[in-house]
Amino acid sequence: MKEVLLNRALSEEIREIYAEMAGQYDVVARRLHFSCDGCPDNCCDSFFLHHTYAEWAYLFQGFRELGSERQDDLLGRCRQYVLGCNAAQAKGERPQLMCPLNEAGRCTLYAHRLMVCRTHGVPAVMQRPDGKRLHFPGCFRCQEIVKKKFVHDSQAPRVQRTPLLQRLVSLERGLMGEKLHLYPRVKLTIAQMLLDGPPCISRTCCERQGGSGDV
Ligand code: SF4
Ligand code: SF4
Repeated sequence: MKEVLLNRALSEEIREIYAEMAGQYDVVARRLHFSCDGCPDNCCDSFFLHHTYAEWAYLFQGFRELGSERQDDLLGRCRQYVLGCNAAQAKGERPQLMCPLNEAGRCTLYAHRLMVCRTHGVPAVMQRPDGKRLHFPGCFRCQEIVKKKFVHDSQAPRVQRTPLLQRLVSLERGLMGEKLHLYPRVKLTIAQMLLDGPPCISRTCCERQGGSGDV
């Protein structure tokens, strides 16, 4: 197996994409006078799967910067999280467990958190590669604000996620090569990513596609 590593340029690119996301989020949040301050909820207990090698590799960069004691502690919580998710799913329920990276309300790997963590909250719209347009109304608190301020929620400002997603897809291709589709599809929670270790791909797969350069 060969580890998928982000080189300096791709690490910089993912940081720029995340910064752009944050900027757009802030613009919409400011226009709506929305913030998470005083929220009784915490979105870090929402169940999400993540789908890119690039984000997985970037999350793992952050994990590697932690001391070994913190890493062990975190992995212990990841194991508990996975057990909890399995138990909920066995009952046919959507898991709702606090993310193992959340420590007393703060994200242990804040600078390395994933796209979903950065975009949830305010309304957004996104066009999928198959042309389907998806609308995200924002979290429950934001929806309440939108309802009070606008006759129809389509009038509310929203983050245009499509260009951001396109940049992430292009970064993923830069990392994995044009034959990205030959690799196993990533479909993991943050806990599973950390427990699995850094993203790795089989050498036979790299050779079949003639090598992907950055992996
Ligand atoms: S990675 Fe951080 S921001 Fe994302 S759900 Fe976990 S604790 Fe929350
Ligand atoms: S995004 Fe919404 S629900 Fe989540 S913490 Fe912020 S205000 Fe609360």
